[in-house]
Amino acid sequence: MTEVFKGNFTQQEPIPEEAIEAAVAVMRSGRLHRYNTLPDEAGEVALLEQEFAAFTGAKYCLAVASGGYALGCALRAVGVAAGDAVMTNAFTLAPVPGAIASVGARPVFVGVTDGLVIDLDDLQVKISESGAKVLMLSHMRGHIVDMDALMYICNGAGVIVVEDCAHTMGATWDGVPSGRHGAVGCYSTQTYKHINSGEGGLIVTDDAEIAAKAIMLSGSYMLYGKHIAGPPAEMFENIKYDTPNVSGRMDHLRAAILRVQLKHLPEQVEKWNARYRTFEAGLRDIEGLTVIHRPQAEGYVGSSFQFLLLDWDNAAIEGFLARCLKRGVELKWFGAPEPVAFTSRYDSWHYADPQPLPDSDRVLSAIIDMRLPLTFATEDCALLARIVKAEVKSD
Ligand SMILES: *Cc1c(COP(=O)(O)O)cnc(C)c1O
Repeated sequence: MTEVFKGNFTQQEPIPEEAIEAAVAVMRSGRLHRYNTLPDEAGEVALLEQEFAAFTGAKYCLAVASGGYALGCALRAVGVAAGDAVMTNAFTLAPVPGAIASVGARPVFVGVTDGLVIDLDDLQVKISESGAKVLMLSHMRGHIVDMDALMYICNGAGVIVVEDCAHTMGATWDGVPSGRHGAVGCYSTQTYKHINSGEGGLIVTDDAEIAAKAIMLSGSYMLYGKHIAGPPAEMFENIKYDTPNVSGRMDHLRAAILRVQLKHLPEQVEKWNARYRTFEAGLRDIEGLTVIHRPQAEGYVGSSFQFLLLDWDNAAIEGFLARCLKRGVELKWFGAPEPVAFTSRYDSWHYADPQPLPDSDRVLSAIIDMRLPLTFATEDCALLARIVKAEVKSD
């Protein structure tokens, strides 16, 4: 009998009842704007910021309209100006180079290793070749590079690191929360990430000046005193007339549902990792299929799974994907010549200068990607692995 999978790869869990009640309470109040608060009321957004700062151990936190907004806001806040070169991963998603372009800066792509992290040798080359002073480091699909080695290189070269933690909220490197090595950490609360408000983003930093600029940029007007997880008022004195309002605030409705989900994130991480490990166990020792190595120091969140079909030709990969799809297994291929749905390659972003990366191309053209939503049971993941295994072998 040929097994078929019936699950839906884009179906997330429902919003918890407690969060729905919190959202309804906000709607009943009529006060949805983050600065629309009663005299003794902090408001859901400021409380979310306080709780997320505590969760990551950061001094300051700002909630914003999206993950992409968080990235662009962080770049402006660290001083990136039009025309500047900003380094980023060749293996990432479109909002990352998009955030660089949104401030008029130029993306400089750094290669990817077969562990799906930024290539530190190539990083050193790109630092000296481009003269870029900022790295927007994308922990793409939750794979975390050796952060101690990366920070050693960047600190030595005077490169500011902004972390894109869209896939690493709740993850750690050597016990340090992802987003806490660089000057700024940026997170997304969009539906397909680790906590779900439809759209939304968070920024953390220990730097009072960066925090003050980010708050002004996000559209605080002169209401920055309402932030609980912001720097003291005097930090705003020098910047408040010079920092443009690039409106991108979060509202109380979204913050209300995120606060409840944040409380449960550690349990959710356990659930994701149980699914990840089940799928991974089913894919070990298959000829032609490479499982991605996860380093000991990496405390990952297995909300998606990647494997490599190294040196397969395009037609063979397309055949494999089609056979899996027939059996209900929706896999995404980062190597597809044309961008499809969420996937695209660094050479699909034509607004950036052409930058050949032949070593990365070998890896990129082999990356197969699968979501692991928590609506899948662990038994589903075992079934998914059996199907993938059978279809790799039938090539
Ligand atoms: C989703 C995502 C973003 C942007 O987040 P949005 O909230 O969708 O704007 C940035 N980087 C990566 C790697 C992402 O997957």
